[in-house]
Amino acid sequence: MGNQKIYDCAVIGGGAAGMLAAIRMGRNGLNVILIEHTKKIGNKILQTGNGKCNFTNLRMEEDCYLGDNQREIMSVIERFNQKAVISFFESIGVYHRERNGYVYPHSDTALSLQNALRMEIEHLKIRVSTEFDIREIKRNGRVFELMGDSYTYYANTVLLATGSKAAPKSGSDGSGYELAKKLGHQVVKPLPALVQLVSNGKTCRMMAGVRSQGTVKLFIDDRLAAEEFGELQYTDYGISGIPVFQLSRYAVKAVDEKRKVHLVIDMLPDYSEEYIMRIVETGIQQAGFKNMEQFMEGILNRKLVSAAVEESGISLKHNITEIGSEKVLAFMKQLKSFTMQITGFKDFDSAQVCQGGVKLSEIDMSTMMSMKVPGLFFAGEILDVDGKCGGYNLQWAWSSGAAAAVGVEKFLK
Ligand SMILES: Cc1cc2nc3c(=O)[nH]c(=O)nc-3n(C[C@H](O)[C@H](O)[C@H](O)COP(=O)(O)OP(=O)(O)OC[C@H]3O[C@@H](n4cnc5c(N)ncnc54)[C@H](O)[C@@H]3O)c2cc1C
Repeated sequence: MGNQKIYDCAVIGGGAAGMLAAIRMGRNGLNVILIEHTKKIGNKILQTGNGKCNFTNLRMEEDCYLGDNQREIMSVIERFNQKAVISFFESIGVYHRERNGYVYPHSDTALSLQNALRMEIEHLKIRVSTEFDIREIKRNGRVFELMGDSYTYYANTVLLATGSKAAPKSGSDGSGYELAKKLGHQVVKPLPALVQLVSNGKTCRMMAGVRSQGTVKLFIDDRLAAEEFGELQYTDYGISGIPVFQLSRYAVKAVDEKRKVHLVIDMLPDYSEEYIMRIVETGIQQAGFKNMEQFMEGILNRKLVSAAVEESGISLKHNITEIGSEKVLAFMKQLKSFTMQITGFKDFDSAQVCQGGVKLSEIDMSTMMSMKVPGLFFAGEILDVDGKCGGYNLQWAWSSGAAAAVGVEKFLK
């Protein structure tokens, strides 16, 4: 070790969680080094919210986080909640704008938020070491040795904030899981979450390109598991859109476990059965000369109608009077329960976040410190936490980063 400098904390991973934690510790006078293995810190932030960065949400409840540990997750969120996040960003010059509870930088650009974090890190003179790959983390007495190819850093505490495996091109390539495992931690199998679902159904190609409001119900082994409403995006491989993202983590896990997964889609969510009956009656009375395609034209996108017709056996070119009100009615009801078998999911490249990660039962959530290695802390998506779309994953990164910063300070005292 010789005369090497020993940092108070080595934060590994210059993402949302790592940057926030470094700033909080730097502001309190701790000597921090931020180690990042790509060329630049904050890469993923630029991709968030379609480049606008939905960095928190005014609605913050247990059901915004998925999986089994919602109470523990909320206990961390509550200590540095959405209001604290908003005022933290104001303190570094990022004012906010809110749309239906979703919070964005007032500039509407993720770049402004990333720049503000970087400027604050620079201003606090926090040492940033980029393009540094850690081969091994060892404990030598009470000091951690972080060994790279040609250099070793030393620190009294380590904060692992290396993210997950989602969007690996941004730098979160899953290497943090390996570091955690080598330090004795268990990792719950990481799987994509907030991701598109794949179907081998022959109708997908027919519907590709359509965006339409709908209700989507997820069934696992024929039992209802989740339900969402919003704009569905039909694609040639399957289905996407915010409602699909919201329930994707359950579908992905079930497909991975080789269980039977299907969606039931209501393509006419604003039409009750009574209203549909009225439409069919008046349609046949006033426009009985139309064929099925012409009749449906003013009701639903033609591609969706074609796909549903494919399943029903009705001919689009057939006259509605000849088909008869009963069959037309049955077809329209079918549009309220269109079935899509789910056979797969898009990979980590397409996923916004991961489910799975470092097991929470091995972390003291009041400090974010490992229960196995004193002085080792965790924050962000490396942990087995995943939230819904809507700013909840960044909120987790900020809250857990802040909690870890406090935990490190307590530990060093
Ligand atoms: C396309 C997309 C859009 C998203 N939009 C939103 C949104 O609008 N709102 C929202 O709340 N969430 C959004 N998310 C999710 C959100 O970005 C993440 O949950 C959040 O960035 C996780 O923060 P983190 O600090 O834990 O990990 P990351 O931000 O992934 O940061 C981890 C950092 O660690 C570095 N690293 C990894 N391994 C090592 C290593 N071995 N050594 C050194 N450094 C390492 C990585 O290069 C990276 O810089 C989005 C994600 C994606 C991909």
